[in-house]
Amino acid sequence: MSSPVHIVGAGLAGSLLAIFLARRGMEVIVLERRPDMRREDIPAGRSINLALANRGLAALARVGLEEAVRRLTIPMRGRMLHDERGALQLVPYGQQPHEVIHSISRAGLNKLLMDAAEATGRVELRFNQRVDTMNPATGTLTVYDEVSGATSQLTAAPVIAADGAGSRIREALMALPDAHETEDVLPHDYKELNIPPTAGGCHALEVNALHIWPRGGYMLIALPNLDGSFTVTLFLPREGADSFATLTDAGAVRAFFTRAFPDAVPLMPELVDSFFTNPTGHMVTVRCAPWNLAGRVLLVGDAAHAIVPFHGQGMNAAFEDCSELDRCLDAHGADWARAFAEFMRLRKPNAEAIADMALENYVEMRDAVRDPRFQLQKALAFELERRHPGVFIPRYSMVMFHHIPYARAQQRGTIQQRILDALTARAHALDDVDLEAADDLIERELRPRI
Ligand SMILES: Cc1cc2nc3c(=O)[nH]c(=O)nc-3n(C[C@H](O)[C@H](O)[C@H](O)COP(=O)(O)OP(=O)(O)OC[C@H]3O[C@@H](n4cnc5c(N)ncnc54)[C@H](O)[C@@H]3O)c2cc1C
Repeated sequence: MSSPVHIVGAGLAGSLLAIFLARRGMEVIVLERRPDMRREDIPAGRSINLALANRGLAALARVGLEEAVRRLTIPMRGRMLHDERGALQLVPYGQQPHEVIHSISRAGLNKLLMDAAEATGRVELRFNQRVDTMNPATGTLTVYDEVSGATSQLTAAPVIAADGAGSRIREALMALPDAHETEDVLPHDYKELNIPPTAGGCHALEVNALHIWPRGGYMLIALPNLDGSFTVTLFLPREGADSFATLTDAGAVRAFFTRAFPDAVPLMPELVDSFFTNPTGHMVTVRCAPWNLAGRVLLVGDAAHAIVPFHGQGMNAAFEDCSELDRCLDAHGADWARAFAEFMRLRKPNAEAIADMALENYVEMRDAVRDPRFQLQKALAFELERRHPGVFIPRYSMVMFHHIPYARAQQRGTIQQRILDALTARAHALDDVDLEAADDLIERELRPRI
């Protein structure tokens, strides 16, 4: 019998990948640093809830979990913009009823995936096992047992690292000659807060929307939870006039929120306490190569390509990784070296593209959404999609509602942006746009590149 595949990390990617591999008949051992979140009340990690989109759902569907996961989700049809006076504007994400994204609890999803992995009968989840390092030449892992305090050595092949943005396996791989890595930490941090349910147990804001308070240099967002609450996230520079550095006491926090997000303050009775109790998180973009060492080691998910969260795609990309690796194994059988090399060849350009688009989307969410020109271009993009279905697809839709590879969505998005800029250069409303010129531009610039 072949030796088990070892996965490091039973987070979102590690748990889903274990299911994919078990379905291929492989034995899988997953080493997870934290205790079992199904038995102990521990924070699930980097964000309480997340937006799940088509790519993630498609990967879940391939292992038969789409329906079970959908039961944990709340559809969000668009961005609900809150201006400084509390006026609201819903900006739909797409134009078809199914073009929505789904709010889901990270813990709920992770637990479901762990249960499904164990239910295959081929996956052993080992908790409290922190992998401290790996010798890539031998495949020897140094594992620290968080309960007993003992350190042991374990030699395994292959090892698939799904140990997240701060991956220890990536660290070991990047120490090899010819490996290279950049870790760009965003100069903005985030902090999670909460809007509890109303006294009647309902959501205090429109439930089927992702709420945004865009303020130019920073923003607040809120995603709904099934229990009637919203998880609220403040994204703010670390330093400067409006920054985490200035929010050092209760008065400063209250004054800042009252000035910047006046309609949100009455909904957050524990604002000040939570602000000082909850951790402040950093956000990082990781770009590295190689992702694999022959057939012995492979990085997936955030371990290979952590991105900032502003496109809501980190988990979706990590799930797409799992499904793509499964396809590579279809093509190459148990020839791990070829499957891993093919995986990196296919995924790396896409990881680069979504990393860029996620950074760009921060500016869109916190600032551009308020700009009338941006809103005109958004309306025009929908109109062009209606006139040229399957040819002109707004970039946001390509990323969130389609399975077009990210790199292709980025390339086509660049052409489309040029078209939108040209058509709106002198337009103030949709009626001012020359739609026949638009049709010509699309035929000339876009259609030949399909
Ligand atoms: C604020 C925020 C909001 C986000 N929102 C979204 C969103 O809306 N939509 C979306 O798609 N993505 C979102 N993301 C991104 C998403 O969280 C990640 O892309 C996703 O969690 C990646 O999954 P992963 O399994 O690769 O890593 P992780 O989920 O980080 O899992 C890593 C696992 O490895 C374990 N581990 C770590 N180190 C070790 C070790 N040394 N030994 C053993 N185990 C270890 C960890 O305990 C964890 O269980 C968001 C991220 C942040 C920070």
